[in-house]
Amino acid sequence: MKKIVVLGGGISGYGSAVLAKKKGFQTFLSDAGKIAECYTKILDEWGVEWEQGGHTMERILAADEVIKSPGIPEKAPVVQALRERGIPIISEMEFAARYMGKARTICITGSNGKTTTTSLIYKIMRNAGVNVALGGNIGESFAYQVATADFDWYVLELSSFQLDGMYDFRADVAVLMNITPDHLDRYDYCFQNYVDSKMRITQNQHSRCSFVYSADDEVITAEIDKRADMRQRLLPFAAHTAVASGAGDAFLAGDEFTARVGKREVTIDTTKMQIRGLHNAYNAMAAALATLAAGVDAEQIARSIYEFSPVEHRLEPAGERDGVLWINDSKATNVDSVWYALESMTRPTVWIAGGTDKGNDYEPLKAFAREKVKALICMGLDNEKLQREFEGVVPRIISTSSLDEAMRAAKAEAVEGDVVLLSPACASFDLFKNYEQRGKLFKQWVKENA
Ligand code: ADP
Repeated sequence: MKKIVVLGGGISGYGSAVLAKKKGFQTFLSDAGKIAECYTKILDEWGVEWEQGGHTMERILAADEVIKSPGIPEKAPVVQALRERGIPIISEMEFAARYMGKARTICITGSNGKTTTTSLIYKIMRNAGVNVALGGNIGESFAYQVATADFDWYVLELSSFQLDGMYDFRADVAVLMNITPDHLDRYDYCFQNYVDSKMRITQNQHSRCSFVYSADDEVITAEIDKRADMRQRLLPFAAHTAVASGAGDAFLAGDEFTARVGKREVTIDTTKMQIRGLHNAYNAMAAALATLAAGVDAEQIARSIYEFSPVEHRLEPAGERDGVLWINDSKATNVDSVWYALESMTRPTVWIAGGTDKGNDYEPLKAFAREKVKALICMGLDNEKLQREFEGVVPRIISTSSLDEAMRAAKAEAVEGDVVLLSPACASFDLFKNYEQRGKLFKQWVKENA
């Protein structure tokens, strides 16, 4: 019997293990850390053998195939040992797609905008009455859903780490939002390696598949130019560069865009959308193209786009008090996402930033900061770099080392008509468990004290 080993007992791991067991493989799950009880319970129910707190190498190295969770880096000793022996390592997506039958997929990747676009596409499909599931980096495990349900479509958010473990997988509709430097520590500090990983979203696509991508992103268009053999329907979207593709396209002119695939099209007035800013116009264009390509009715697409409200922690309005609007953008953990946050600010802004700096280059933010930010509140254990970078760019910089201190400073700085924006450009691990906790505490503070 084929032996499957699953590395990592998080959401992707437990789902893969359940599916492997259901398909009759000898299945063993191993996690170097602790596995959440909700998952061990399910593993036990399905009779999957598992271990935590370390890896039993002889069992792992006896595998015919290994399904690795995206969080485990290539340089982990267990991965290196498997590579040395030539044991194939795949991702949850690669494994689960083998068993999804006739179901089709819309897969979304990019450096920023994945969750928003994935959620929007899922909402459009569901509201249109499609038998659709949500998976990947978001929602329930894709593999678990393949094991336990029967869907016609899967909308999957894919990180570069998941794409790295995908070989024969094919996205029926692939969506690539943008490619900007991120996670370079996992790609030997080589941007091209990360680019290659993102471009895997198009691998194995044939002429009936679609590829939705940003034509404003020069990294993506340069990659497309390199590939003369792309046979899929190319569906570009853009705001800066006028685009035209025989298969379809979307272009934002002023406040309005029209997305067209074949003869079907939908026009959206972005001022009527609840999600704001240029980046969300991109996200909506991508979602419109992807769902048109999937065959959804144009009117249904428009209705769902207008109804869609911000996903939690992504430029999420957290309340307006005494004319000051508080916005939670805790998910903005890199410079590019903060660029879009500042771009979309229409009121004088008190900007809360800082945390664990991932080697940021703040240069791209300075023009918007100069124009819109009246005070920068640094919130972190080490604020020196932020202070140095924005000295002379914004009129006031205040250094704080806790959420409460930062919020009190922001409240003191903001007057009627201003916005307080939490958009950190940094990871949260110095003061918080994760970005979700940072965002939740921000919202709670606004509710109780603002
Ligand atoms: P991801 O899942 O790729 O991290 P999210 O939708 O969670 O993307 O958004 C992450 C951050 O990036 C948020 O701060 C959000 O406001 C910003 N953002 C959303 N869409 C885009 C986009 N198309 N381009 C740049 N930044 C974006």
